[in-house]
Amino acid sequence: MTRVVVIGGGIAGLAAAHHLADRRDVHVTLCEAGSHPGGKIRTEDFAGVVLDLGPDAFLARRPEALQLCRELGLEDELVPPATSAAYVWCRGRLRRLPEGLVLGVPTDLGALARSRVLSPLGLARVALEPLVPGRRLAGDEALGAVVRRRLGDEAHRTLVDPLVGGINAGDTDRLSMEMTAPPLAAAARARRSLVGAARRAAVPGRRGPGGPAFLTLAGGLSRLVEALVTRLTAAGVEVRTGAPVDALEPSGDGGYRLRLASGAVEADAVVVATPAWVAGRLLAPHAPEAAATLAAVDYASVALVALAFPASALGRPLDGSGFLVARGEGRLMTACSWASSKWAHLDPGDQVVLRVSAGRAGDARAQALDDEALVARLGLEVGQALAITAPPSEVRVTRWPRAFPQYAPGHLARVATAEAELTARLPGVALAGAALAGVGLPACIASGRRAGDRAAGPLGG
Ligand SMILES: Cc1cc2nc3c(=O)[nH]c(=O)nc-3n(C[C@H](O)[C@H](O)[C@H](O)COP(=O)(O)OP(=O)(O)OC[C@H]3O[C@@H](n4cnc5c(N)ncnc54)[C@H](O)[C@@H]3O)c2cc1C
Repeated sequence: MTRVVVIGGGIAGLAAAHHLADRRDVHVTLCEAGSHPGGKIRTEDFAGVVLDLGPDAFLARRPEALQLCRELGLEDELVPPATSAAYVWCRGRLRRLPEGLVLGVPTDLGALARSRVLSPLGLARVALEPLVPGRRLAGDEALGAVVRRRLGDEAHRTLVDPLVGGINAGDTDRLSMEMTAPPLAAAARARRSLVGAARRAAVPGRRGPGGPAFLTLAGGLSRLVEALVTRLTAAGVEVRTGAPVDALEPSGDGGYRLRLASGAVEADAVVVATPAWVAGRLLAPHAPEAAATLAAVDYASVALVALAFPASALGRPLDGSGFLVARGEGRLMTACSWASSKWAHLDPGDQVVLRVSAGRAGDARAQALDDEALVARLGLEVGQALAITAPPSEVRVTRWPRAFPQYAPGHLARVATAEAELTARLPGVALAGAALAGVGLPACIASGRRAGDRAAGPLGG
């Protein structure tokens, strides 16, 4: 029997434990520092609805999250967004985004022109892409540099940076293209058009079955966490909460000893599914280079303010899922999700619920404000954008410090080197989580499964 300890009970750690739970040759213990598992997944009652205050959807064009929901019997609870329309705040007002953007790159230049989201010059610059000579990439470049070179500054600032930067709470001038936009990176490497790559990526069937791009669970994404914990417990996994692991050390017999405040836990294999700086601290004494790589991963902090208003207070229809805010617009908010329009199950008809975000890489202003000042500022900005005439009936502030790993160019190569050092120095210890393979829930689930296999070895092996 291989004793596997999973450190960290976010979605990556839960997925690792779930992946191993049914194996007869493995016993799994999961240690979560917090009072409940789930990590960034948090669902609360708010203004009479069940609202996600962390992630509110997952990409359904990747298989992992959808497959996990199916395995857990949650398929009937999955719902798609009620609308795919969205806006961007740029050049001083809300502008509707054209259909067919892939990572912010347009696939239909006619739709882009009709949307008037870009100025005539910005539009002309995008249309000139076929004439821009392809250039050999200098390794894994920042996404922003490549997009600006091929599509121009305006398309970058108005479309790609808000979308990809929004997903990562990042600055695309500092984000790895390979990590954050793989289809665009492949095209740029092959010196091909980004618009062409976006068109190919958008063809239904190419990237998995048709159907909605995103899904959520009608009872909130915490349903996924609850179902996972129920399944783990039934399979004999020990799920320990309030159990931060303070140290990891080789025990001398080829295994590991994990130190917790409540005592030591012995393991033959370990999955470290914590934020990168925690993993770095745990590994530093034994795999210093891997630890340094992990410790060097920068994180962006965000704040999410949920606001409820009577529907009658809105001066414009919320005909979409919300809006993103381009940089340089003098706004604190980075995005405003119209939760009650985006999701039919959050729309009681007589009120609107908004999720307003602030904070991203290079912008720590939200952290410097106390809750009252943050709500006042975001309330003012959102009130202007949506012509709101009444104060909110309910407000909730959720702070997510150091929540979004920032994948600097070269990230994938650094992670591969760190994993190789771990394999050599700490066999049976594997890494999982958003810092490694991507911020989205499917990527985190995939990293958990992979780490489970790397730690425990193949089934029966
Ligand atoms: C506001 C917000 C909105 C988002 N929206 C989306 C979205 O719509 N769709 C999407 O796909 N993704 C979204 N994301 C990203 C996604 O939620 C995260 O990338 C993902 O949940 C991270 O999972 P994880 O398991 O890697 O890390 P975490 O969820 O951070 O889990 C790590 C766990 O490790 C625990 N831990 C830390 N130290 C120790 C220790 N010493 N011992 C034991 N345990 C420890 C922590 O308590 C935590 O529970 C969003 C994130 C945020 C913050």
